[in-house]
Amino acid sequence: MKSIYSKLIIGFLLTSLLSFSICCFFTIRSYNHDSDQLALEELEHSSDHIADLIKLIDDKDQDKILADYSETSEMSFTVTCEGQTKSFGHVNKKLILKDDELKTLATSKDKSLRSEGIISQYAKAFKIDNQTYVITVQKDFSATKDIFMKSYTSAAIIFMMTGSIVFLIVADIIVKPISRLTKVTDELAKGNYKVRVNYEGKDEISSLYASFNQMAVRLAKQETIRQQFISDVSHEFQTPLTAISGFATILKNENLTDEQRQKYADIILFNSNRLSHLSKNMLQLTLLDGEDTSLDKSEFPLIEQLNRVIEMEDNAALSKDIEIEFIHPKKEFIIEADESRMEQVWINLLSNAIKYTNEHGVVTVEVRRTATELQVRFEDTGVGMSQDAISHIFERFYRQDKSRTIEGNGLGLSIVKRIIDLHHYKIDVESQEDVGSVFTVYIPYEMFTGLTKKKKD
Ligand code: ADP
Repeated sequence: MKSIYSKLIIGFLLTSLLSFSICCFFTIRSYNHDSDQLALEELEHSSDHIADLIKLIDDKDQDKILADYSETSEMSFTVTCEGQTKSFGHVNKKLILKDDELKTLATSKDKSLRSEGIISQYAKAFKIDNQTYVITVQKDFSATKDIFMKSYTSAAIIFMMTGSIVFLIVADIIVKPISRLTKVTDELAKGNYKVRVNYEGKDEISSLYASFNQMAVRLAKQETIRQQFISDVSHEFQTPLTAISGFATILKNENLTDEQRQKYADIILFNSNRLSHLSKNMLQLTLLDGEDTSLDKSEFPLIEQLNRVIEMEDNAALSKDIEIEFIHPKKEFIIEADESRMEQVWINLLSNAIKYTNEHGVVTVEVRRTATELQVRFEDTGVGMSQDAISHIFERFYRQDKSRTIEGNGLGLSIVKRIIDLHHYKIDVESQEDVGSVFTVYIPYEMFTGLTKKKKD
């Protein structure tokens, strides 16, 4: 696997190479164009100069002066007059004009420019005292081109070197925080949820670090919840199991009376029912917690459902001489929801109201209709709750009654809350210790069809 570092280096080299080649192509093209122009100007200027020398100097001194000029100006040239050609300097033979070309040039008084590699030649004709002269001037431009190539190559080397140094520094700045994050992620994967990363900047890395820290905090919280859950579950299972094993051992004693035997068997039965209830609740919560938990929605009459639930809980109320009042509008409300899960909500709320109300108390179930919603209230005259307890009652295994004198496992309201959330309903609690509690479920207007149908009519 290639590291980010090596990928960045390969990327840098490829980019530099590509940009350098494109730059090279255009620079050389432009240089060639400009240098041709300069060469033409220089050769033209020299040919004018040579023409002036021929015009001004006596015939006898001409050859010597022209030879000197060729040497000092680094030019090679030929002078043709009356079919006679004289060469000065190292004239390149390949560029020498043929007789017919010389003739055409002499008659047309034209000019000609041609090149052979790095040697350029300029030719022109002119007249002195009715005599036609043709001169061809050559110059080797290799030195100029060499200078250009050398400057260009050293510029490229300097660019690559400084570019590489700057790139290595920048790559280090980018790669270092990523390597650091990889290290702490490894730590986190090993179960160290305390790891955090700090970063000063305000760029993508800082938001990456912030997300990592958030994730670590959430994982740490989940781990605490998980540990708490395991400890709660084992505690909730341990109590009935201890009772079952203790009383089963006592039952083995043959000297027990029938009455004692009956009593201990009832205790075992009670505790095994408690275990069964606990595991059913846990299973239900696990099912509700699943990511793909879906509701099996249908339309059903709410008042009828509540009546059924009240009937179911009637015996428990009667055993404590608790009166259940049911107040509701005459009209039935058809709601669209998961019928069996909503029944579970009403059962849990009503059984709690009965459970936490002392003998001869009153539990009131009331359905209220407002402009925006239906409210289903469960009001009791029971033990009530402290403000601290209210903030915890929807947590798993939470019970205000730490001595556990009242039967329960602290899962009923967690199930209620989860079902309410899945339906996008709301639930709230008002309570006062030794006065009573009110649990209210709010079903928004658009969730029930009874009124909708009426409105459409
Ligand atoms: P439990 O099985 O203990 O009743 P719940 O989840 O149903 O579990 O309730 C959690 C806790 O909330 C209870 O232990 C109790 O302290 C408190 N609680 C719930 N309903 C009432 C109520 N109507 N009156 C007073 N306290 C209540």
